Amino acid sequence: MMIMKHDATEEDIKRIVKEIRHYGLKADVSRGDFRTVIGLVGNEANVPFDHIAILPGVKEVIKIDTPYKLISREYGRATGENGEARKPVMIGNLQIGNGEPIIMAGPCAVENKKQLFMIAEAVKKAGAHVLRGGIFKPRSSVHSFQGLGGIDRKSAEQALKWMRDAGREFGLPVVTEVRGEDHVDLAAEYVDILQIGSRNMYNQDLLAKVGRKDKPVLLKRHFGAGIEEFLSFAEYIAAEGNKNIILCERGIVPVGKGKEFTRYTLDLGAVPAMKKETYLPVIVDPSHGTGRRDLIFNMSCAAIAAGADGLMIEAHYNPAEAIVDGSQTITPQELQDIIKACREIHKLVAGRAGSQ
Ligand code: PEP
Ligand code: MN
Repeated sequence: MMIMKHDATEEDIKRIVKEIRHYGLKADVSRGDFRTVIGLVGNEANVPFDHIAILPGVKEVIKIDTPYKLISREYGRATGENGEARKPVMIGNLQIGNGEPIIMAGPCAVENKKQLFMIAEAVKKAGAHVLRGGIFKPRSSVHSFQGLGGIDRKSAEQALKWMRDAGREFGLPVVTEVRGEDHVDLAAEYVDILQIGSRNMYNQDLLAKVGRKDKPVLLKRHFGAGIEEFLSFAEYIAAEGNKNIILCERGIVPVGKGKEFTRYTLDLGAVPAMKKETYLPVIVDPSHGTGRRDLIFNMSCAAIAAGADGLMIEAHYNPAEAIVDGSQTITPQELQDIIKACREIHKLVAGRAGSQ
């Protein structure tokens, strides 16, 4: 990371970028209010740092020894105002990170227009901020409902339009999962946040594709990925220039007979641990994390106590009717109780170590 002097000129910056490219790397130019920072993206083995450090306009060269330097706290601090490390993600006027917990709620899968609009209205009334809904569903069996996106492109686009319209009608930004590269351009036309599901956390090409989009990305942790791996793959999005990334902890593979009790093991220690490593907001999905509707209230409270910036929760006016994931889906009333409790808990932990 090259920190430029306050009075570095455009010419100075251009020259550094040219030098970096000369050695086969990409330059990530971050222009803060006070200074410009240039991150090197790629293999640095042959870069003569002694030479670059004395070029005009360069204040300092700092080595960041992690595979996720562009999303690291150090990088955030260097580019942030007054050394402020955290950087919220903005969805219009909605701020994710550094404030009230942001609640994303909605059905596991969008089934039809009426279902989606009824749920959108109900979650809005319960206090949710963002509407979720799966259209391109990752499913373990090819014989089960694949989401409306699994039928054909026309059905996918219709469902995306319903998402957009439900969001507009009830004043909720919307998020949906893109499962493949060819979903990205289409979904980006209609939704506010592109979700990468846990199974795709390792899909470098998909990460690079959303990294080139001017849309916030919600990246879910793979259930077998360590924290360093998760952050390293988030870096693939940032390396393409998109740093509007929301990280989501959604549970890792349980040990022993764990799966008999909970679908995954929600790794809540990862929340404050990751917030110490990165400036990105971190949210938690207690629905997939437990697989059990009777555990969602407690694990939502626990997630906010752990410093999470928000939650993603599956909700339906009649969970028993849901085609996908009904057993982990809660009612709007339960959602409202969770949101109320989480606001209180957030007040107690905001600004404390780990949540900062
Ligand atoms: C989802 O949020 O719809 C989903 C499938 O979650 P995950 O990728 O975490 O399994
Ligand atoms: Mn689901």
